[in-house]
Amino acid sequence: MLDSSLQQLGSALRARKISSVELTQLYLDRIAALNPALNAYITNNAEASLAQARAADMLLSEGKAHPLTGIPVAQKDIFCAKGWRTTCGSKMLENFIAPYDAHVIKQFNNAGAVNLGKTNMDEFAMGSSNETSYFGAVKNPWDQKAVPGGSSGGSACAVAARLCAAATGTDTGGSIRQPAALCGVSGLKPTYGVVSRYGMIAFASSLDQAGPMARSAEDLAMMLNVMAGFDERDSTSLQRDKEDYARDLEKPLNGLRIGLPKEFFAGGLSNDVAQAVETAIAEYRKLGATIVEITLPNSRLSVPVYYVLAPAEASSNLSRFDGVRYGYRAPEYSDLTDMYEKSRAQGFGAEVKRRIMIGTYVLSHGYYDAYYLQAQKIRRLIAQDFTEAYKQCDVIMGPTSPSTAFKFGEKGDDPVQMYLSDIYTIAVNLAGLPGMSIPCGFGSDNMPVGLQIIGNYFDEARMLNVAHQYQLATDWHSRAPQGL
Ligand code: GLN
Repeated sequence: MLDSSLQQLGSALRARKISSVELTQLYLDRIAALNPALNAYITNNAEASLAQARAADMLLSEGKAHPLTGIPVAQKDIFCAKGWRTTCGSKMLENFIAPYDAHVIKQFNNAGAVNLGKTNMDEFAMGSSNETSYFGAVKNPWDQKAVPGGSSGGSACAVAARLCAAATGTDTGGSIRQPAALCGVSGLKPTYGVVSRYGMIAFASSLDQAGPMARSAEDLAMMLNVMAGFDERDSTSLQRDKEDYARDLEKPLNGLRIGLPKEFFAGGLSNDVAQAVETAIAEYRKLGATIVEITLPNSRLSVPVYYVLAPAEASSNLSRFDGVRYGYRAPEYSDLTDMYEKSRAQGFGAEVKRRIMIGTYVLSHGYYDAYYLQAQKIRRLIAQDFTEAYKQCDVIMGPTSPSTAFKFGEKGDDPVQMYLSDIYTIAVNLAGLPGMSIPCGFGSDNMPVGLQIIGNYFDEARMLNVAHQYQLATDWHSRAPQGL
């Protein structure tokens, strides 16, 4: 049951071979046994999950089921879910109970899915290892001394360790794809604007995008079908016809043109990852694809550009946490300014403070032109590189992360080393393109390696097709961590 696809779970539920209450209980028991060590969830609420499961069982028995009805899904703790504690991995929101549902949560509720719990994450989604979470780091289920990646590390761990059927994540600079790669699961960041950000706690609004994390491309397509769609409450939500993201899964790949950016295979890439990715590319040739070398000349600037723009936006977004309206308030203070200062000083962790300081600096008078404006111009050039590249290819492939999962503490003292974890993922967010990661092998340390697939705008259905055909031909995606 724990290894079943969403399709199989849905069929079992509809055939009443298992009830949603039984399935939910199965996961809750497993969470109770394994979560104390793995720390994938910040909050579980068995009563609330089982109430949803009972409602799903009603729909199922009335024959009114949607494909995900009754299926337990884990939600990243960045999404407001009515009545649920929603912390965003921060002390600032340690006791915050969301008064409304994010669009994504609402979509799952409407589909009859069960909210199994809120997954752990780097504080305010800032990080690549989950070490910045106020609630303690998530462990990588393949090796508990290794990081799960971040910021959606809790969701990646929960999917890999079979602590949920599938999960949600968000990706501002790689936070779906990098933890998916490090934990050996599949994850997709859609085109910017495809999934509404309403009720999703904002980090860097021009980059943030929610997407699914699951054990296969097929499952991702079912999840995205629920998550995507226009929402007037998010001004960047795109008004487009509803699509079925599973429509092209079965198409053969004959004639597919895969672009390999030469910059993605240069210095800084570990041998383990390079080898697994090259083997995956060879598999694609067998499946009928042709390979084209492309160039993304400005991609080398994506990390510095991101670390100007993302902190700038974060410093503005996080100004709402002032100790007045919601969130943490310092217990003692002398006047209003002192209350603001103490609440923010005590409520935010070190990485969040670092970003706020960088952000206010690059936006300040005198530095705005030199940093912020310059970064915006380079962002445009990075996006143009992709537009040029897509004249020669249909999808772009490369590594998701430069190495397999590193050990706890290894990069903790050096923010720049940590920031380089996202060297292959960030350009995709800057351009607003869709990107995904799928498992493609293991390193010499027996840790999973992720293959990144980058599509053109709105090409999610094709990317899922490209991933699914690979998953039909290989079994990396169905490997599970042992000994849990
Ligand atoms: N690791 C990157 C950062 O710390 C990306 C995070 C994300 O995508 N949310 O900003």
